[in-house]
Amino acid sequence: MSVTPIRLLGDPVLRSPADPVVDFDKELRRLVRDLTETLLDARGAGLAAPQIGVGLRVFSFDVDDVIGHLINPVLHFPDEEEQDGPEGCLSIPGVYVDTKRRQNVVAKGFNRHGDPIQIVGSGLMARCAQHETDHLDGVLFVDRLDAARRKEAMKAIRESEWYNPEAPPLVKVSPHGVFGR
Ligand SMILES: [Zn+2]
Repeated sequence: MSVTPIRLLGDPVLRSPADPVVDFDKELRRLVRDLTETLLDARGAGLAAPQIGVGLRVFSFDVDDVIGHLINPVLHFPDEEEQDGPEGCLSIPGVYVDTKRRQNVVAKGFNRHGDPIQIVGSGLMARCAQHETDHLDGVLFVDRLDAARRKEAMKAIRESEWYNPEAPPLVKVSPHGVFGR
C-alpha cells in the first residue's frame, strides 16, 4: 500500500516550483504508483507530486474513467475558448469555487518509461491538466480567482476544520498576469 498523506494549504512544499524529471528510473515509477494510488484513495480528479511532498514535475489524473499520469508537462492551447465552473483541490479540502480555465488543452510530456505522450483534453480533462501543471509551478487555483471569488475562497478556507492559523496560506495575486489571454 502506498497511499501517502496529502499536504494541505499552508505547507511550503505547495509553493515551491518542482524540478523536471531527469531519470526515468524505478524511483520515478514508484512515485507514479504512489501518486495514482493516493489519488484513487482520495477520489480526486488529479494529484501533483508536490501534494505528497515530492518536488518533481509529475501528476496523476482520473478523469472520465481514464486513469493516467504525465511527466514534465507542457501545455498548449489550441484556441481561445474558456470555461467557468467549480474547481477544488485535494490540498484545500471542501472548498469549491468557480474558476475560469481554458476549455481545450494539448498537454505534452512523457510517461513513466520516458516515452513522449500527449493528452488532448477538453472540459474537465483540460481543467485538470491546467490545475495540476499549476501545482508544479507552486500555483494554486485560489491564485487564479478574481478578487471577489478569492475573498469567498479565503473565507471558506478560514472556516475549514483543517485550517491552521499557525501556518496561514499564502495566496498569490495574478502570478502570471491575466489568465486566459
Ligand atoms: Zn490541487
